[in-house]
Amino acid sequence: MKPRQYEKYSRQILFRGIGEAGQEKLLGASAVIVGCGALGTVVANLLVRAGVGRLRIVDRDFVDSSNLQRQTLFEEADARNALPKAVAAERRLRAINSDVQVEGVVADVTPKNAAELLSGFPLILDGTDNFETRLLVNDAAISLGIPWIYAAAVGSYGVTMTIRPTESACLACLLESGETSSATAPVEATCDTAGVLNAAVSVIASIEAAEAIKLLAGRPEALNGRLISCDVWTGKFQSIRVARNPDCRACARREFVFLAGEAQPHITLCGRDSVQIHERHRRLDLSELGRRLTAAAAAEVRNNDFLLRFRVPPYEMTVFADGRAIIKGTKDPAVARSLYARYIGA
Ligand SMILES: [Zn+2]
Repeated sequence: MKPRQYEKYSRQILFRGIGEAGQEKLLGASAVIVGCGALGTVVANLLVRAGVGRLRIVDRDFVDSSNLQRQTLFEEADARNALPKAVAAERRLRAINSDVQVEGVVADVTPKNAAELLSGFPLILDGTDNFETRLLVNDAAISLGIPWIYAAAVGSYGVTMTIRPTESACLACLLESGETSSATAPVEATCDTAGVLNAAVSVIASIEAAEAIKLLAGRPEALNGRLISCDVWTGKFQSIRVARNPDCRACARREFVFLAGEAQPHITLCGRDSVQIHERHRRLDLSELGRRLTAAAAAEVRNNDFLLRFRVPPYEMTVFADGRAIIKGTKDPAVARSLYARYIGA
């Protein structure tokens, strides 16, 4: 450790659970965060400030003004410029701590790219907003033997659980055993329908970050080992032991159906009256597409280095260089598909 790093991390080194040896480990550690919304921004901020050496952040979305209430790394200008969250987060985090190597990746984690995006890291962190992706991450983590931390929040409530392959229950043990109680039930409502308090997200993401720091600082014995839930409105906090399911589809039978793509629909509804569509798997030339759309009289064609956005009232389409598009103004995949085919091409 360099002398200036002793100073920078002094309050964390003073904490007995970390110490100098723990800080050295953190500086040499890495983690990948899947999803950089409310949970992901809070976790990323805490881990970068704690000096975790390398962080990859994967997110498929762009910053929207409705994100700013709880997604603590973003500013109004990011929403105005429609920056991808992974790009905006990387910029902000680099300014916060130049010791940390931060890599923002604009992508949707899919069965096809999950292993490539997640392998090589000793820890995966859940910053996603849906159970399809979480079960995919669970499959990938179990198959690769990488610990991961599940976290979810909606309304005033949130849950988190640290999952260690072969040592603890996994997300499929929790969700697919058919024995869920009200305390272990998945968060079914979404932030788009039930709203979310920034304080609920911050509590859960902070517990997630603390668990990550224990693992990365080499203190696994300090992990809480339970599913923790809390409601910041009612003040109810619970911690529950989750048993491994000896017949679990994922961690016992190793049937990775989400990773095999069998359970993953091609089109994902991603909330806020939008459909994500991924019809093609080759890259798009966004400036060429912009010229073509302007000539075709699409309204308000705007692009930055990462995406292109235009309006076809009552719809708004945002197209990424990897060929993905988010179509706002419909929840009907058929409508989204036909708009995609007409304006972007097959
Ligand atoms: Zn399991």
